[in-house]
Amino acid sequence: MSNLNKKIKVLKFGGTSVKNPQRLAHVAQIVASESKSHKTVVVVSAMGNTTDSLVQLAGRCSDSPNLRELDVLLASGEQQSIALLSIVLSDLGVRAKSFTGAQLGIVTESNYGNAEILSIDSTKIYDAFTSNEVIVVAGFQGVTTTGDITTLGRGGSDTSAVAIAAAVGAESCDVYTDVDGIFTADPNIIGGAIQHTNIGYDECLEMARKGAQVIHPRAVECARENLVLLRVRSVFNPGNSGTVIGPTKQPTADSLVGITSTDGFSVLEIELDQPTADSEAIKDALKSAVGDVNLVETYLCSDSVSSHVISGLNNLSGQSLVGQIGRIACVRQASIRFGITWFSLVGTGAAEIVTSSKVRSIVNGLIDRKLHLSISDLSASFYTGTDNARQVWNLLHEQLKPEFAKAKGHNRLEEQCLVKV
Ligand code: ASP
Ligand code: MG
Repeated sequence: MSNLNKKIKVLKFGGTSVKNPQRLAHVAQIVASESKSHKTVVVVSAMGNTTDSLVQLAGRCSDSPNLRELDVLLASGEQQSIALLSIVLSDLGVRAKSFTGAQLGIVTESNYGNAEILSIDSTKIYDAFTSNEVIVVAGFQGVTTTGDITTLGRGGSDTSAVAIAAAVGAESCDVYTDVDGIFTADPNIIGGAIQHTNIGYDECLEMARKGAQVIHPRAVECARENLVLLRVRSVFNPGNSGTVIGPTKQPTADSLVGITSTDGFSVLEIELDQPTADSEAIKDALKSAVGDVNLVETYLCSDSVSSHVISGLNNLSGQSLVGQIGRIACVRQASIRFGITWFSLVGTGAAEIVTSSKVRSIVNGLIDRKLHLSISDLSASFYTGTDNARQVWNLLHEQLKPEFAKAKGHNRLEEQCLVKV
């Protein structure tokens, strides 16, 4: 097919998919084959653990690295990948050219380390296709209007790929990873996890926000906003067509699409002197001690007792937080529990299912204290000690299999999405 008549498709490959020359060669084969039928934009992450190593390296040079310079450093990881992949593609006879975010006009705000994409110059992409079959773009990075290099936050390459797909009206955006698609639970841990053939943006976004690792929540948001048809698929298993993520019809039935489980939380329990005590003072103290981002959920257990689920605390920062809270006048006692796992049931039926006797009986037998639930339209979440979290996850998944089957039975994506891919 002549390049002129081909539609544009975006392919994204993460760090594990390009971690060494063998993997790069494998990715190049996939790209070469796609480029026969599509003008192909490839978005890549840094190789393997490169970004982590660069963060550590900066940390060995400075206790608080300058944020602008840190972005210059981190962006270099993706720059290695685009050059290497383009070299391999050229050797295969594919006309490929690499571009950094700046070269392709991916303009962001200047919030170093967590910049949002403002615009993408799609004409640069169209121009590049006049003399190339494949455009290889560095994910996770952009440039400010004043020419400074920025990065989009960890895991940001997914967002780069979707934003590019939106900018050029790509037929679809395929996110290649090391699992076959989106599952009802992590298939590497839960043996019976079921793969979704398709799933709606909203449900996928909720899974991603609640800790499913497969795709970054911001990428799903961007896809939903721009109606980009996403597909998550395995780099190792081309026979599996993955999971298509797109717009859903009006939900026809309450369903359950997944159970996520995320480790690494702590719970801070606070008891006040008297029920009328000032909870605002505690909220403020918590905010200044741990910041908004790390405070995941607050439960009021009684008039004077509350528990707060927090992420990212270590022993030291946790104990110092307990000290700070304990010094507040109205606090009788503060204590912290580390090693907490956060569970979410995701789907329109989650709230109803979580209060069902099936879930109750599993949870009551395994969770050592009163169950605190937080409920939203698309999920129901609770926490437990990490010690028996795997057991809880497996049992819940096993018991709720019939509910997943219901979700699978409904073909909920809009028809045009189903024929497109
Ligand atoms: N290389 C970046 C990271 O490790 C971006 C990405 O992989 O999406 O976070
Ligand atoms: Mg990723």
